[in-house]
Amino acid sequence: MVLTQSEPKYVRNENYPEKWFRVLRAGIDTSREYLGNYGPLCVYIIGQEKDELKSAHVAKKIINAYCRNRHGGSTARMQDCLKQNGASLIERARDGSTEAYLSYVDFTDKPLAELVFINPHGFPMPYLHTRGVHEYAHVFQRAFARTPTWLTEGGAEFLAFYLGDKQEWIDFEKSMKESMRMAKSVKNGEATLIDFEDVEKIEKERPHLKKYYRHLAYDAGAWAVALLIQRSEGRSVKQFTAKFYPLLEEMGWRSAVSRYGGYKDIDAFYDAFAVLMEKSEHEQMKLLRLIKP
Ligand SMILES: [Zn+2]
Repeated sequence: MVLTQSEPKYVRNENYPEKWFRVLRAGIDTSREYLGNYGPLCVYIIGQEKDELKSAHVAKKIINAYCRNRHGGSTARMQDCLKQNGASLIERARDGSTEAYLSYVDFTDKPLAELVFINPHGFPMPYLHTRGVHEYAHVFQRAFARTPTWLTEGGAEFLAFYLGDKQEWIDFEKSMKESMRMAKSVKNGEATLIDFEDVEKIEKERPHLKKYYRHLAYDAGAWAVALLIQRSEGRSVKQFTAKFYPLLEEMGWRSAVSRYGGYKDIDAFYDAFAVLMEKSEHEQMKLLRLIKP
């Protein structure tokens, strides 16, 4: 992804209540304003609360737009897309699946980011607002070198809580407290943040730990990012987005984390995180309050 002047492109079925589009766009715009405008980005909002996707015409319009954005000139690929990936979007939406994800398309001349929201009305409010912030944070992250799963999800989640609070959609401290509760619900000795450096590896090698994806990559991850910011020189969220991410390319994520947080190495950071997890709620909240804008 690169910084760009062009606005995100929205594709949606317009007979689905506009409310969901407005909520998601507000989250995405908040995140774009804070992190910068990266792209090119296409946002798909596909949903049905009653029977909006019943019509073949409505479905076809979305599938066509999706495949054209991906494949433009190539007729052969376009045909495949219409039958497979494109059709699958509508099928999942018709089946009532609720999804939000970033897919990064790199077979185009210029890589393209797609944010796909399927049946967003299924997400609990007010967290649908922060879903937009979270997913757009992943678009921003793709402009830099890759990070471990917990840092990718934790970074997006931390920003979603932080910016969501500024917009008064949610309460930052309450959300972080809930994340701590989730992270702490994983039994000692079963798994930690460290196990979620690579979620694909976990899926293959230790599928029984996949059930902690949310607790450890997202919730513990958000706290690990809070620790990193609190330990950094300016303790600033803004500086974290501006100065930490460029370090990744230069030195890789392990050195970037330890350098940015002032730790000897990544193990020292993980040790400090384990200590933080055991602190009292009062101490944990004190850490959050040291974080600056
Ligand atoms: Zn995510």
